[in-house]
Amino acid sequence: MKVGFVYDPIYLKHDTGQHPENAKRLEAIISHLERTGLTQQLTPIRPRAASIEELSLVHDEQYISHIRDVAQKGGGWLDVDTVMSSNSYEAALYAAGGVIRATEAVINGEVDSAFALVRPPGHHATYEQAMGFCLFNNVAIATKCALANYKLERILIVDFDVHHGNGTQAAFYGNPQVLYISTHEYPFYPGTGSIEETGSETAEGTTINIPLPAGSGDTEYLEVFEQIIVPAAIRFKPQLILVSAGYDTHWADELALMQVSVTGFAQMVKIIKGLGDELCDGRLVFSLEGGYNLEALAASIKATFDMLLGNTAIEDRLGQPPRSFKTPSIAPLIKKIKERHKLV
Ligand SMILES: [Zn+2]
Repeated sequence: MKVGFVYDPIYLKHDTGQHPENAKRLEAIISHLERTGLTQQLTPIRPRAASIEELSLVHDEQYISHIRDVAQKGGGWLDVDTVMSSNSYEAALYAAGGVIRATEAVINGEVDSAFALVRPPGHHATYEQAMGFCLFNNVAIATKCALANYKLERILIVDFDVHHGNGTQAAFYGNPQVLYISTHEYPFYPGTGSIEETGSETAEGTTINIPLPAGSGDTEYLEVFEQIIVPAAIRFKPQLILVSAGYDTHWADELALMQVSVTGFAQMVKIIKGLGDELCDGRLVFSLEGGYNLEALAASIKATFDMLLGNTAIEDRLGQPPRSFKTPSIAPLIKKIKERHKLV
């Protein structure tokens, strides 16, 4: 089992100052992977910068130039949440290029699966707008490249970040070749991701939103994976699966109110891996989105790699949420989504 990972120190140069999305996130991940001996079990994949042509598959050219210009002028705030430094444009090119390379490596068979440990993250970035810490939509760009360059016809994107990936949804809202499935806290930032958003006419049903109430934890997520994501994926028959892997769903994360544990992430990854093995020769590409509690983030990413490698022992020192608050039953929600998407 060959599992690849993308990483480069350029990702640390996207300097956001006092901001939850900062370079310490990747430093914590890399040092944890090294300390636990996991890095030696992985195959390094060198990222490259995405080209303007590749970025333009998802973004407006004027927007791309704007991001370059802001960096050249030393950086600045793009919206209330999203900040750039002078090296952010280059880091963002390598973030998109890193996910493209991970995808190429998986499709070419250099590795069985891969995880791109990149920043800035991408799933909120839209055609012409940076938002929610995201500059370029890494997963959407890599997906469009795979469709164009490898003549793929069906790609599944699973997004388990605690926030809805509005940018990714918008990029494929009218494209029946991409099934986008998102689990997210709702109502919450960025406000999109209701059950009613299911894709535009030509692509009706290829967006599946699973808006979960605050307080949802391992039990709720696993239920949703088994009852909605698995049957939807089997019906779609993807040739490749990309995952917007955000770990801000962990109970210790301070940006949101979900209660997933490291063990819960491992179980979710196990299900996704099972889908990959069954449906598309194990072709899986993970890309880092959110996750702001450093200990939870590093441990969850190690657990993700362990699952991809087939290591069965999961270390979960943080354990289950200490002050578990009652979650409303999600059975009616699941029923509604299954009816809406004819997954009965
Ligand atoms: Zn997030």
